[in-house]
Amino acid sequence: MGVISSTPYRSAMPRGVIPAPGTTFTSPRPVRLVLLGATGSIGRQTVDVCRRHPDRVKLVAVAANSSVGRIVDLAREFPTIRTVALSDESCAGSADLDGLPRGCEARFGKARVDELPATVECDVVLNALSGFAGMRASLAALQSGRILALANKESLVAGGDLLMPLASPGRLLPVDSEHSAIFQCFMGEDPWSATRIWLTASGGPFFGMRAEELDGVTVEDALRHPNWNMGKRITIDSSTLMNKGLEVIEAHHLFDMPYDEIRPVVQRQSVIHSMVEFSDGSVKAHLGAPDMRVPIQLALSFPGRWDAPAEPVDWAKLGRIDFADPDLDAFPCLRIALAAGRVGGILPCAMNAADEVAVHAFLDGRIGYRDISRVVARVLDEFAPDAVESVEQLEQVDASARTRAQGVVSQLAS
Ligand code: NDP
Ligand code: MG
Repeated sequence: MGVISSTPYRSAMPRGVIPAPGTTFTSPRPVRLVLLGATGSIGRQTVDVCRRHPDRVKLVAVAANSSVGRIVDLAREFPTIRTVALSDESCAGSADLDGLPRGCEARFGKARVDELPATVECDVVLNALSGFAGMRASLAALQSGRILALANKESLVAGGDLLMPLASPGRLLPVDSEHSAIFQCFMGEDPWSATRIWLTASGGPFFGMRAEELDGVTVEDALRHPNWNMGKRITIDSSTLMNKGLEVIEAHHLFDMPYDEIRPVVQRQSVIHSMVEFSDGSVKAHLGAPDMRVPIQLALSFPGRWDAPAEPVDWAKLGRIDFADPDLDAFPCLRIALAAGRVGGILPCAMNAADEVAVHAFLDGRIGYRDISRVVARVLDEFAPDAVESVEQLEQVDASARTRAQGVVSQLAS
């Protein structure tokens, strides 16, 4: 027996969605894809990946909330789409639907969107719905044996305890850029030899500002993200660092990593998408252009890779890569999220709901920027950390946290 045959990770077990080394995957080709949230920022970039690889990805169904015109345009562009679904039932009366190709079925109502993963013949479900509204669809995708390509981080934040027991390696593929990066750093490694995840953050538009300086922040200022072009809620969450807090919880679930071993770090240029440190002190980083089509595409091409959708970075011209600790005093949302994640149970679900309400209230001009963290903190104070038991329970927690958050918003706004 040679040295090579006594490989150290022979008996390694999977860790979260990280496969044990040597695991082989077969993927269906072409991939029959259901795209939820097809009209949003991630959805549109996914459609772009589909356009680039018509021989590899076949869009079979798309869903959105109320953007009926754009959904009809997609059905006309991709004749492989046989089903479209809209959560907003009033879309059923839209004249735009006359443009749907013959034989393409339209479904209406939130339940029809939620059950799409289970009721349409498909291989992969890419969930790019925004917010807790994506929870049931994630569950349906995994329960019906589909591969879940997950952008909707809120599903894991709120319902990681329900989703992860259903998510074996290769069945849940992260789309969030940091988590895709971490997933790739783990490839070929004994997953249990990882000692720390370095979760990178751009720091957002207000990096370096002190808490008091954030008082006068306007909606326009907060929507101006330095490196990524995203939906409104995640853009505000990136500026408050709540997004990083949600991502720490997401990483905890996906990679079965204790909170003490997940360290958020600001990396201003957003070219290091995250890093994993191993027991011998080695650190693997994933670098590349800040373009969401790269992780979206990997979730569809896994275990292979397809041609780059983005211009490669010229590393010699980039010049420098800067790191810093996040400032938890100026950005209390990150501190709150880390605490809620550690306590666990239903608290992350309540926190996410309160944050969704607070962010919308800020976007509507009802509360100030720094009120966002105040709303979330006050709502969380009212919840006990009960264990997660069911999706129905999470829906009740979500609804009750929203009502309480609206109450705090009204107090702050008066
Ligand atoms: P957007 O707000 O741009 O898009 C949201 C999409 O979801 C739209 O298609 C919208 O439809 C649809 N939608 C929202 N609510 C419902 C509902 N109740 N029923 C059916 N459809 C609904 O969001 P993003 O694309 O920015 O984000 C999507 C998810 O991806 C989020 O969880 C976010 O955290 C995550 N993510 C996003 C990144 C980004 O770069 N944008 C990066 C990493 C993760 P309609 O057009 O009809 O309103
Ligand atoms: Mg991210």
